[in-house]
Amino acid sequence: MSLIVQKYGGTSVGTVERIQAVAQRVKQTVEAGHSVVVVVSAMGKTTDGLVKLANDISKNPSRREMDMLLSTGEQVTIALLSMALQELSQPAVSLTGAQVGIVTEATHTRARILSIETERMQRHLQKGEVVVVAGFQGISSLTDFEITTLGRGGSDTSAVALAAALKADACEIYTDVPGILTADPRLVPDAQLMSEITSDEMLELASLGAKVLHPRAVEIARNYGVTLVVRSSWTDDPGTKVVSPQPQPRPLVGLEIAHPVDAVGFDTDQAKVAMLRIPDRPGIAARLFREIAQQELDVDLIIQSIHEGNSNDIAFTVTKPSLNRAEAVASAIAPALRSTSDPVAGEAEVMVERSIAKVSISGAGMIGRPGVAAQMFETLAAAGVNIEMISTSEVQVSCTIAESDCDRAISALCAAFDVNSSPSHLGTKTRTADDQTLPVRGAALDRNQAQLAIRQVPDRPGMAARLFRLLADHNISVDMIIQSQRCRWIDEVATRDIAFTVAQMDAEAARELLLQSKSEFGWGEVTVNTAIAKVSIVGVGMMGRPGVAAQMFEAIARDHINIHMIATSEIKVSCVVSEEEGVRALQAVHAAFGLSGSERIEVPA
Ligand code: ASP
Ligand code: MG
Repeated sequence: MSLIVQKYGGTSVGTVERIQAVAQRVKQTVEAGHSVVVVVSAMGKTTDGLVKLANDISKNPSRREMDMLLSTGEQVTIALLSMALQELSQPAVSLTGAQVGIVTEATHTRARILSIETERMQRHLQKGEVVVVAGFQGISSLTDFEITTLGRGGSDTSAVALAAALKADACEIYTDVPGILTADPRLVPDAQLMSEITSDEMLELASLGAKVLHPRAVEIARNYGVTLVVRSSWTDDPGTKVVSPQPQPRPLVGLEIAHPVDAVGFDTDQAKVAMLRIPDRPGIAARLFREIAQQELDVDLIIQSIHEGNSNDIAFTVTKPSLNRAEAVASAIAPALRSTSDPVAGEAEVMVERSIAKVSISGAGMIGRPGVAAQMFETLAAAGVNIEMISTSEVQVSCTIAESDCDRAISALCAAFDVNSSPSHLGTKTRTADDQTLPVRGAALDRNQAQLAIRQVPDRPGMAARLFRLLADHNISVDMIIQSQRCRWIDEVATRDIAFTVAQMDAEAARELLLQSKSEFGWGEVTVNTAIAKVSIVGVGMMGRPGVAAQMFEAIARDHINIHMIATSEIKVSCVVSEEEGVRALQAVHAAFGLSGSERIEVPA
């Protein structure tokens, strides 16, 4: 007999009628011959209501009391759903996180799961009962029973963690949309349902703010190989399957905290082309990468830094044998890229570097742990390795370094993160049949980011490390990080600018930290821009396929939208644009990759 974990979100259990409908569906699953564990959220907007009550009493309520309060929402739902099941003559029992034995870290309001006891649930299942578990909550120890919560939206994470601990055959996430869509349908009305997505892609999309799944839930599914399906609680449609690779066996203790980094990768077959002082106007990146793509050259990292005056720097990497052709393309178009608004800047300059290597760390466990990137930079600094380009996503940090430093960098990183290294090459990510035809699976818009720029950061090993340690120590996660290509000499010290994005709510704190450290670190002006939006495309199918980035830049340029920053990872391209152009840029990109469909997907407000 198979075991299925089903999770129902707030809207799916928002009223008595809906709870009764969920009970019917659970009962049908039992009748089809499965054992069922159900995880539920609080009814409707209950949790928001509780947060509001707390805020009416205190501006800064204690985190412990917040957990005490917010955990009550789910407790209401488990009792009601068990009653509804019993009314249908289906034996059922409700259990809180504490009663199950979901043990978490002691960090209130954002605890990570450490382990889950399965014995009591098994006992009830063996008696033929449906076990109804409160999502989103746990306890910090089995002795003092401190109630913790996992962070907003955390019941997805509870469900997948339970499925991993119980070695369930599947975990089904029931929601009010038919599955995972190619974009947020409130912004892109012709967004379509996907039948499949890989967990690597889903992780990127979830951390980009596609709200259907809690990123930590995807992380657990990927790490433990849980079969995950997202589907509508109103229909019998199959929904979207999230496909994971066959995982290495892992212990079920330290469930969410074991290894933040899964792998250290390297690639010595890389060379860099940088174009300095190119005009900051729509269409430039599109033109450059279109010409590169026409030569069938596959570009790996692309970085465009913030503009200084009226010009930008763009740097990208290609394989070593492609360098000459890429350089020729860049040099051929450079004269045409004379900045009209800044005549002194003159014509764009092309610089190449033949002997570089890329080293990267990757792992789903990095999400929300800013210290991991800082640790990578510190490790490289301690090994005396200078970092040239940095590019990050939520689940990967890549740096280019001198090729001659590569061996040293890898052994230092493997020791620091306690993992083995492997050459990064195409095809290491899981693919589905669709990937052969689809370069891009979905697009997302993140409007909750702010861009910070620090001018004139001394260019020495260790600066990135100190900078990111400073932010990490204050729990500020950095999203895109970009170092300028251009070096400026100030009092005989080489300096570069560094730009990065953080969550908007962290922007002010980050700015203050950077200003406080200005004289100690010796950097210049710090600027913040909160009026930005980040548009991203995600797809495993873009690996090894020239022209995908070019197509994105072209779509944005056709709408006369200027790109402020570009950063890429293996399966993602992100562009920062002005906030007011964000939705338009998203729609343009979504249409350009053929993601639009004719079927209208209804989403509740
Ligand atoms: N009830 C919690 C929240 O609203 C957890 C969840 O729904 O996933 O954030
Ligand atoms: Mg939710």
